[in-house]
Amino acid sequence: MGDMNLFSGLEALGFDSLDEVKIFEEKKEQGTEKEEKVEEFHEKDMLYLKTYQCPICDHENRVLAVRLGKLRTSGIDTDLRPIYEKMDPLKYDAVVCEKCGYAALSKFFSSIMSRQAKLVKEKITPSFRGINNDLEVYSYDEAILRHKLALLCTVVKGGKDSEKAYTCLKLAWMLRGKRDNISTDGSKARQIAIELQKEEHALLVNAYSGFDAAFSNEPFPMCGMDQVTLMCIMADICRRCGQYQTAKRWISNILVDKAAPERIKNKMRDLKELVSKEEKLAKQG
Ligand SMILES: [Zn+2]
Repeated sequence: MGDMNLFSGLEALGFDSLDEVKIFEEKKEQGTEKEEKVEEFHEKDMLYLKTYQCPICDHENRVLAVRLGKLRTSGIDTDLRPIYEKMDPLKYDAVVCEKCGYAALSKFFSSIMSRQAKLVKEKITPSFRGINNDLEVYSYDEAILRHKLALLCTVVKGGKDSEKAYTCLKLAWMLRGKRDNISTDGSKARQIAIELQKEEHALLVNAYSGFDAAFSNEPFPMCGMDQVTLMCIMADICRRCGQYQTAKRWISNILVDKAAPERIKNKMRDLKELVSKEEKLAKQG
């Protein structure tokens, strides 16, 4: 019966070769059609190659950068780390020269003084074994490696306190991102999470001392932040490091600051509650 051409006779009206026409499509095919309509997210589709000419060796690096406009935020941490839906664009913020090993956060990459360039050439380049910039996406480990090299270069070149502090903060955020995205379960995952948190904590302590020194010695905007924004970050870093009294002092300073918008003051009132709660718990434990 399956071979019967139910449309035979229509040739007379000009319809040839109708033996392939099926009156009912098989149900299976409908199913796959539906699945195809769900748009899949691919991190690589959000990326493009951006050229960074190395200010030390002139090499033109083509490195991955993010089309931020295509992404939506889903929240923000109390120390202002933005959280995005579907991927973490912060991973792509450290730029490494594949030829000489010079690295920095993207906003600092191009500006370097000749005295600093000399230090990188002497202390980084001879040991540098190369890095693969030709990747489709960065894993957290890849991103952490790049941020660590950026921090090392910032220290070696004798960068400003603010730049060192900001690079510590961004690296701390990378470690937190990795911790939030640990895909395995069980005791091994817990152990990794504990180690990542310890490392994050140590970086935040360093970030705080750098920002604290920079606060009174460097002009604002600092690393793209105004004074109130930096005070918010410093208050929360203190909380995360268990420095509750200092955290409260920063919060009070913001609450009396005429330049601070009401929206931010409300956030600081919430943070103050969180500090008191954690302080109480710390005293009990
Ligand atoms: Zn270079």
